Amino acid sequence: MIAKVIVDVPVSQTDRPFDYLIPDDLEPVVEPGMRVVVPFGPRKLLGFVVGKEQHSELKKIKPIESVVDHTPVLTDELLELGSWLSETALCFTVSAYLAMLPAVMKANYKKYISVADDKALQENYPGVYDFMTKQQKPVEWESIVKNQPSYLKDLQNGIKKGWLSVEQKVEDKRKEKRVKMISPADYINLHKALEDMDKRAEKQKKVLRFFLNRSQNEPAVLSELLKELGVSRPSVKGLVDKGYLIEQEVEQFRDAYARSDIKPTSALTLTDEQEEVLKPIEEDIASGHHHVYLCHGVTGSGKTEIYLQAIEKVINMGKEAIVLVPEIALTPQMVHRFKGRFGSEVAVMHSGLNKGEKYDEWRKIHTGKVRVVVGARSAVFAPFKNLGIIIIDEEHETSYKQEENPRYHARDVAIFRGTFHNCPVVLGSATPALESFARAQKGVYRLASLAKRINNQSMPEVMMIDMREEIRNGNRSMFSKVLHDKLLDRLDKSEQSVLFLNRRGYSTFVMCRDCGHVIQCPHCDISLTYHRRHAELKCHYCGYQESLPNSCPSCQSEHIRYFGSGTQKVEEALTRMIPEARVLRMDVDTTRRKGSHEKLLKAFGDGKADILLGTQMIAKGLDFPNVTLVGVLAADTMLHLPDFRASEKTFQLLTQVSGRAGRHEKKGEVVVQSYTPDHYAIVHAGNHDYNGFYNQEMRERQSHRYPPYYFLALVTVSHTEFPKVVDVTESITNVLKQSLTQTAQILGPVAPPIPRIKDRYRYQCMIKYKNEPNLLNVLNKIQSHYQEAFTKDNLHISIDVNPFILM
Ligand code: ADP
Ligand code: ZN
Ligand code: ZN
Repeated sequence: MIAKVIVDVPVSQTDRPFDYLIPDDLEPVVEPGMRVVVPFGPRKLLGFVVGKEQHSELKKIKPIESVVDHTPVLTDELLELGSWLSETALCFTVSAYLAMLPAVMKANYKKYISVADDKALQENYPGVYDFMTKQQKPVEWESIVKNQPSYLKDLQNGIKKGWLSVEQKVEDKRKEKRVKMISPADYINLHKALEDMDKRAEKQKKVLRFFLNRSQNEPAVLSELLKELGVSRPSVKGLVDKGYLIEQEVEQFRDAYARSDIKPTSALTLTDEQEEVLKPIEEDIASGHHHVYLCHGVTGSGKTEIYLQAIEKVINMGKEAIVLVPEIALTPQMVHRFKGRFGSEVAVMHSGLNKGEKYDEWRKIHTGKVRVVVGARSAVFAPFKNLGIIIIDEEHETSYKQEENPRYHARDVAIFRGTFHNCPVVLGSATPALESFARAQKGVYRLASLAKRINNQSMPEVMMIDMREEIRNGNRSMFSKVLHDKLLDRLDKSEQSVLFLNRRGYSTFVMCRDCGHVIQCPHCDISLTYHRRHAELKCHYCGYQESLPNSCPSCQSEHIRYFGSGTQKVEEALTRMIPEARVLRMDVDTTRRKGSHEKLLKAFGDGKADILLGTQMIAKGLDFPNVTLVGVLAADTMLHLPDFRASEKTFQLLTQVSGRAGRHEKKGEVVVQSYTPDHYAIVHAGNHDYNGFYNQEMRERQSHRYPPYYFLALVTVSHTEFPKVVDVTESITNVLKQSLTQTAQILGPVAPPIPRIKDRYRYQCMIKYKNEPNLLNVLNKIQSHYQEAFTKDNLHISIDVNPFILM
């Protein structure tokens, strides 16, 4: 027999199956979806078996060296999905396969077999039993493959029946992250130790006092202890050596949910609205039909409860469910809702887990121990065999698109899988992506709407503040009079406030502080980006540029400048303005350390601060009963990013931020400060009017030929020499112009907003098209054509179909 194998060499020349001979003893073992080790030139490589055949066209073929897996790690469906991705996302098939597996399976690892059921094994496979008992310890799978291949088939069956167990050992030590903890050996003795201590051992005394001030024997992380006390390791070590303190190594990450007190919940009685949305989905589940549902429901309308009840139905039918949630919204609160309903049937996959834990969660799915996975983007590849539903919450989030190879969008993958398994795919959002809503309007997706909040709770009242007015009235601070007063009022009532500052897009655009005019490109209707170095304004779509004007082209005011501010600056201003307020700042700087995100949120939830000030990371998942005021400091910042989705992102963000207020008994208020309060994205967000926004934004997209009216593809070329980049991008542009139809628009070559990264120059070419059956083919050819230059000359070409980042 011949095995068709995709080898782990991500270049286009090798992006096809190669033939390998399956040695006779491996014949019954090798199956498609297993990883194997094969000779490739002088090397030994990992490969994926994608098929088995009787004959090969080739005369001389090498045999497979060994088999890595005892059972396929990729199903036939996932194998197919991989080749589909390689075509549509222009990636290498092997990159797609590797993206479907947990990281440890990319690294070196070893697998050990041991006996689990003596009696059954001895009765059924006495040969294997003798062999295993002779070894007296777990046997490495690879060594059996090499030395005793005749046992393999029986071993495989034994594992399936549970008579043998498999243990995977990750070789790389770093994968198990461990930390050193210090604790008192005996709390009572610390006092005595302090007295006995040499007068000069000030540092050691400091350490002892530290532990005396804590509750009994409470351990501390060594590195944190050193930092906090400003002492060195030897001081602590000295105390450990004397026997006063104990040093222990523990695993840093445990299963965060294993021991927590999650209360079981049961299905709620649905509202009529919820009932109506769930019904057709349930019918699809019962009859095995695939449709894509777009569940458009305002924040707090009970979408999650619908997901939960649909999943319950799926589980009752013996099928499985995938739930995707954006990484940033995958909070313990969110996970508890699923664990509360389905308990140990749920696996959770997110970036907070270490490699070993991720592998464990993946194994629970692979071995059928769970039926539900809740996870971020990559959980869409969960190796379920009998999917009954795929749910994508907050479907508009751009993080569902992977920005590196393979550049897949989880929504597309979900629809591929839903079609394969004949099961519904549910996309949920309060602010659906324009592309999705347009598809629902056309009937490609089924639209399901939830217009009301549960218990008919009203949406919070949104107040628009025109910051131009404030300046006219002599208030040049970042805070409007209204916001200032309301913050004080909340302080009086001991209620909490959330202040939201959108830092993205800051310091890049130029705006008039008097009239709000933002300088835009005359050809693209997109704001120009300020380049401090040459005091120039540039358009990153078409290359247009002009120098920074001295006065506003609209009102001639001289108060025209680029915008610059950050959370830190706001915090300072806030503390100066209301010194008695306790402010908690949450941004990339204060949340760099693992777990600090949750810690800050917990502190705020426990009432340890009056005001939470933060960036986009506070827009999601926050649900605090005592928050009655949400302030948005500069609603415009994102509006002027050089991105055609700027208005859409602004609308989504404002809607989400507003949704944070008044989710409980106390009524909520939202104050939005803006220099362009009459921009339609801001006006419609203030009115909670998705449809109004959608209609207007669609007109904008149509007139500027952007999605969903047109598709986009973006080619980015990078190299260390500038002329080379321009040259190559120009050739690519020409090839595209010759190969595509007249209706395709090819823009470029043009320098992207970030023209150089890590000393490599970048250039781009953008394609806008409606229907180009030849496009993927041409792009594929371009990619292969430059493959050689890639290795020889370090020229890099990246092709992004349906890009979300245009920089
Ligand atoms: P969404 O996901 O649309 O933001 P949620 O599912 O979080 O909304 O629902 C908001 C709140 O309403 C939650 O606390 C949820 O438990 C509650 N809820 C949802 N459906 C019902 C229902 N049918 N009856 C009572 N409470 C409900
Ligand atoms: Zn332009
Ligand atoms: Zn002006």
